[in-house]
Amino acid sequence: MEVVYKKISGIKYALLNPEAIRKLSVVKIITPELYDEEGYPIRGGLMDPRMGVVDPGLRCETCGKPAGKCPGHFGHIELARPVLHIEFLPIIYDTLQIVCHQCGRLKLTENELDFAVRKIDRYKKSGRWTRAYKFIKKFVITRAKNRTKCPNCNYENPKVELRKPYRFYVIDKDGEERRMFPVEIRSIFEKIPEKDALALGFDNVNSRPEWMILTVLPVPPVPVRPSIILETGERAEDDLTHKLVDIVRTNQRLHEAIATGAPQIVVEDLYDLLQYHVATYINNTLAGIPKAVHRSGKPIKSLVERISGKEGRIRYNLLGKRVNFSARAVISPDTKIRINEVGIPVEVAKTLTIPERVTEWNIEKLKQYVLNGPDRYPGANYIISPDGKRFTITEDNKELLAERLQPGWIVERHLLNGDIVLFGRYPSLHRLSIMGHYVRILPGKTFRLHPAACTPYNADFDGDEMNIHVPQTEEARAETKYLVALENHMISPRYGLTIVGGIQDVITGLYLLTQDDTRIEFSKAVELVYLANPSESEIEKLVRFIKRAKEEGRDYLTGKEIFSVFLPDDLIFEEGGVKIEDGELKEGSIDALMIKSEKGVLIRYIYDKYGPRFALEWSYKVFLLGVHYQYLHGITVTPSDWDLPEEAMKKIREILEEADKKVQEIMDQYKHHKLPKVPGRSEKQVFENMVQQVLSEALTEIGEIVKKYAPISGTTLMAITKARGDIRDLAQIISALGQQSFRGGLIEFGYKKRNLSMFKPGDIHPITKGWVKSGYREGLKPYELFFHALPGRDALMDTAIRTAKSGYLYRRVAHALYEIYVHSDGTVRDTTGRVIQLLFGEDGMFPQKTHHGKLDIDGIIKEILKKVEKEK
Ligand SMILES: [Mg+2]
Ligand SMILES: [Zn+2]
Ligand SMILES: [Zn+2]
Repeated sequence: MEVVYKKISGIKYALLNPEAIRKLSVVKIITPELYDEEGYPIRGGLMDPRMGVVDPGLRCETCGKPAGKCPGHFGHIELARPVLHIEFLPIIYDTLQIVCHQCGRLKLTENELDFAVRKIDRYKKSGRWTRAYKFIKKFVITRAKNRTKCPNCNYENPKVELRKPYRFYVIDKDGEERRMFPVEIRSIFEKIPEKDALALGFDNVNSRPEWMILTVLPVPPVPVRPSIILETGERAEDDLTHKLVDIVRTNQRLHEAIATGAPQIVVEDLYDLLQYHVATYINNTLAGIPKAVHRSGKPIKSLVERISGKEGRIRYNLLGKRVNFSARAVISPDTKIRINEVGIPVEVAKTLTIPERVTEWNIEKLKQYVLNGPDRYPGANYIISPDGKRFTITEDNKELLAERLQPGWIVERHLLNGDIVLFGRYPSLHRLSIMGHYVRILPGKTFRLHPAACTPYNADFDGDEMNIHVPQTEEARAETKYLVALENHMISPRYGLTIVGGIQDVITGLYLLTQDDTRIEFSKAVELVYLANPSESEIEKLVRFIKRAKEEGRDYLTGKEIFSVFLPDDLIFEEGGVKIEDGELKEGSIDALMIKSEKGVLIRYIYDKYGPRFALEWSYKVFLLGVHYQYLHGITVTPSDWDLPEEAMKKIREILEEADKKVQEIMDQYKHHKLPKVPGRSEKQVFENMVQQVLSEALTEIGEIVKKYAPISGTTLMAITKARGDIRDLAQIISALGQQSFRGGLIEFGYKKRNLSMFKPGDIHPITKGWVKSGYREGLKPYELFFHALPGRDALMDTAIRTAKSGYLYRRVAHALYEIYVHSDGTVRDTTGRVIQLLFGEDGMFPQKTHHGKLDIDGIIKEILKKVEKEK
């Protein structure tokens, strides 16, 4: 195929000139019949072979090429009467209102017209099309619309009305109304002089107003609307062909009716029918027009639907492409693979391949892969010769092909450990939704993901599926490795803290390990460290610690020492009660603040000092340590975690009784109108506020009691370390759920003057408005359960709606920001070079390089001072 290189200098949108349509056309369609008795397309029909062919074996009668090679050629239909182009209806309506129906001039004075033409010309020359459009709307259209009398011929123009869907009426001064057919509209538009058309935004060369009314309809080539042969041998035509048949048939009948001088009413009906068919051929989604349907009742897909929207040609076929070398599977967790690895089933690895070029250094290895063939792992599926020929490796030919292998050939080998792939989860709402992971081939059928990498993907393991794609070129692999790899994205560009981090058992495990009184005998300590995959130097450090302990007469290591094995020797860190000196944890214990994702200040610090690769490897080891210590220690959650001493329960009961009493008092005062007056609030509002105040105070007090008396247990451990839940959840289990609210207010609807039929009408006690006095443990009363379920259901429905809404919002934001970038001079610009911000974010800060949005100046000073001190 001959390749022609051309550069697009611009794109011009214009109306189709009827003369151009005729010139473009290779056939005038004159019959609605498609095929003759032998099944051969009829000449002059809609499948005329001059417009191209889709059947194999036939040749196009215009260019002589067979199906697939011929791009197709347009035909045309001469319409018996002009019809409106439905997509231009608003412009036709505007134009009808602003031009004089007698002389065709714009209803503007000569001065106004000159001014408008000059201004539009200026906008056009500088490419400011939006400004030109706005000017025409604001000046030309508004002025001319407000005049009835033509300043040029003094004709008193009638009022024009558009009645849905596409009928125009003129109403004169006396209220006399008359239908205005497209023929008449077209003849008015034809009269518009070139200068006046210019002021309307038409350029007279590429677009003329009268072309908005169709006199000739282009018929798309056959390959645009191919027919398909069903399994039954029947031929099924494309929707467009069906619609065109309707148009041709109606057009023919209209033609005959006019020729034979049929009554006006018959002609008008046929005219309207033709208009309907042409309109729904172009756009079948118009409001107010009944949808054109197949015999089955399925609506016909129109031209507009083919092009626009999510499933249209542009967004579906042109902007987005499905990609090869990809796989999708359910994900499951694995803490034993690296955080930046992905576990891949053998079955997937045998299907997805990487093209590897044969050299003298790898030829033996690659020969072995070819000999293994497509079924034995690690093998290969194809080889490609230097002249581009592709050979499929089979059981029978693999020895032969292995023999032929020479440097310069390419082997498409199976995925191997250490290959890099793209891994992603939808919806991809930020750039961390697709990252580079290293392959680890594992048995099983799921993709394995390290739990620490869940946050960036927003993944969990309740059945989530994720996709991989294997980059096929060196460039793509290099980009994956250096730009997209997970370790380069551990710090979120959104808030400047780590987004990969420990969760749940890792946090409680490390917390327990790093308690001041944790003592672990040497053998257990060694086991723990080994389970966390230590490096050579870390083992040395462990030995050092054991030696030191022995010298001090200990037969154990402290938990802090075990944790410190993995800290770099020169690490100095102090934050949130944790103190690390020269690579040893001296004070404090590790909890969510240090290592949890979206907090993780310790990981953040290590990332800064030792780089992404180290930070990731460190996290991996330390998380393993946490997991294994948790195994060793074991924590349990049991109902006895929620047992408070009788003393505490008594206090809680007292608090609730006290609150009840207070509520009763407030109710009495309210009934006797004795509540304090607050400006801007009704008595009822004051009453409700006071009651809510009392109740929420009671709940806070209960929370304090629970915090004070709750026994140390698995449950409280999770809350204290912030691994999962907080102490308020415990209070809800032990005592009271508190006020249930619905969309920011009390629960207040249902029957007349009451929520539920079990309450007395007009009862204003908070328990009738969603106050839940019971806790989860003792169980809720029926009406409490009802109140509790209500906001739950509301939230569920809200989430369903919100995801759809936020999806669309995301699309709009992404589109608006699409071509905006930070220029090398620090300004934010769009692709035309226009400055949008003088400084990125107006403070020049890139969140990814900050500590939670702030520059850690204190930390930098501290570090420098320490260095200076050391040098002394
Ligand atoms: Mg899920
Ligand atoms: Zn052709
Ligand atoms: Zn006039």
